Amino acid sequence: MLENKKEDQTKLIYPDVPITSNQISISKRVEKETAIENKPFEVAKKQIDIVAEEMGLNHNIKKFLKRIERALIVSIPIKMDNGDLEIFEGYRVHHSTIRGPGKGGIRFAPNVNLDEVKALAMWMTWKCSLLDLPLGGAKGGICVDPRYLSRTELEKLTRRYTSEIINIIGPDIDIPAPDVNTNAQIMAWIMDTYSMNKGRAVPGVVTGKPIEIGGSVGRETATGMGLYFVLEAFCEKLNLDLKSQKIVIQGFGNVGGTVANLLFKEGCKIVAVSDISGGIFSSEGLEIDKLLKWTREGKYLKDYKDERYRLITNEDLLTLECDVLIPAALENQITETNANEIKCKIVLEGANGPTTPNADKILFNKGVHVVPDILANAGGVCVSYFEYVQDIHAYFWDLERINKELKMIILKAFEQVYTLSKDKKTTLRTAAYIIAVSRIVKAIELRGIFP
Ligand code: NAD
Repeated sequence: MLENKKEDQTKLIYPDVPITSNQISISKRVEKETAIENKPFEVAKKQIDIVAEEMGLNHNIKKFLKRIERALIVSIPIKMDNGDLEIFEGYRVHHSTIRGPGKGGIRFAPNVNLDEVKALAMWMTWKCSLLDLPLGGAKGGICVDPRYLSRTELEKLTRRYTSEIINIIGPDIDIPAPDVNTNAQIMAWIMDTYSMNKGRAVPGVVTGKPIEIGGSVGRETATGMGLYFVLEAFCEKLNLDLKSQKIVIQGFGNVGGTVANLLFKEGCKIVAVSDISGGIFSSEGLEIDKLLKWTREGKYLKDYKDERYRLITNEDLLTLECDVLIPAALENQITETNANEIKCKIVLEGANGPTTPNADKILFNKGVHVVPDILANAGGVCVSYFEYVQDIHAYFWDLERINKELKMIILKAFEQVYTLSKDKKTTLRTAAYIIAVSRIVKAIELRGIFP
C-alpha cells in the first residue's frame, strides 16, 4: 500500500517522463534517508554512532548501547461508556538499568509506537547518566488520543495499563512519571493500582504524583525551571542579556507553558507560542499570563481572540526570527527539511529529540547553538529523583531546597558539558553524550556482561 503511494509520488514529479532505474534508485535512497531521519530510534542510534566515533568506543560496547534491555507490548481492552469494547496498545521499555532502576515518563498520544518509546527510553539513560543520578533509562506510552476519552475511560485505561506492566515497574525496578498528555491525576491512579495489587501503599512506584499522596513540591514546574537555569547560564557564557532575548516556544503544556511563564516574568519578549491547534505570534510580545489562564481552562491557542495577535502554523513558528527557539512539544521538529530556515542564535531543547542528526549538522554550520534535550530538559527527571528519594525516606523537602538542589545539579552538568565542548571543539550535544555514555560504559566494564 505504502510502496504504491511512494511510486505515485515519484511519478507526479515528472508526470510525462518515463522513470529510469537510476532515478528509481536515487528516489529510493532519498526516501530511505528521510525515513531513517524521521524514525526516533534510528535517530537515537545515529547519535550513538557519532559519539562512539568521537570517543573511539569499542564496537562491542557500541553494539551493547544500541540495544534495549526489554520491551513489553500490552493490549488494553476497555469497555467504553457507550458499551463498545475498544482495545488500545501500550508499551513499557527499559533501555538500560545498569546504573539503577529505570526512569522515564508515560505518554498518551495517537502516534505512540514501539520505535518512539525505545528512542525515548534510550534518551532517558543518557539524561540520568549526564546528571549522575543513580537511575537508568525507561519510557512508556499508550497509542490513544485522550481528548476523545471520558474521565472514566481514561481512568480505566490507566489502571488496566498499570496492571499489564505491573511486573516490570516498581520502586526498585522502574519508576514511571508524567509525559505528553499525562499528569498528576494519572500518576495517582497508577500509584493506587500498583498499591492495591501489592496490598500496601507504594508511593515510590511513580513520580509526578499529587503532593497529598507523596508527590514533591516543585515537580510540576521542574522541567521548565531546569530549562530556565540552563538558558540563564548559557546566556552568561555567550555574554547575552537574558532579559532582552526574543523567544519562540513550540508546545504550551507542562514544559513549554512553564518555561514561557518563567521567561515572561523575567522580562523576556515571547513573540510566539503554539499548541497542537497551531500558534500565535506578535512582534510586540505575547501576554503569557493570560494565554496560560486560557489554555489551563482546556482551550486551544487558535481560539484565543486578540486583534494584536496573528495565527501561524507550527511549521512557520519554527522558522520565525528570534534569539532563542524552544521546541517543547514532540520529537523530529527540526529536520534537514527546515534546519536551513531556522533563524535563532540558540535552540533550547525542551522536548525530547526535537532535532535530528542531519539538522544538527546544518545548525552547527550556521553557527546556531543547540542545547541538547538530555541537558536542557533534565530538570524534570532531577526533581523526580528528589521525589523518589523523599518517598523512600518518608521525609519531605520544601520548595527552596528542591529548587536549590535542582539548580546545583543541572548547572554542574551544564558546566561539565560546556567545558568539554570547548576543550574538544565540539557541539554541546556531542559533549553531553560523551559524558553520559562514558559513565554507562564505566558501569558496564565494572559490572561485566552476565554470565
Ligand atoms: P504536555 O502534554 O503537557 O504538552 C505538550 C504540548 O505540545 C501541548 O501544548 C500540546 O498541545 C503540544 N503539542 C502536541 N502535539 C503537537 C504537535 N503535533 N505540534 C505542536 N504542538 C503539539 O507535554 P509536556 O510534558 O510539556 O512534554 C512536552 C515535551 O517535553 C515532550 O517531548 C516530553 O517528552 C518532553 N519532556 C517532558 C518532561 C516533563 O517533565 N513533563 C520532562 C522532560 C521532557
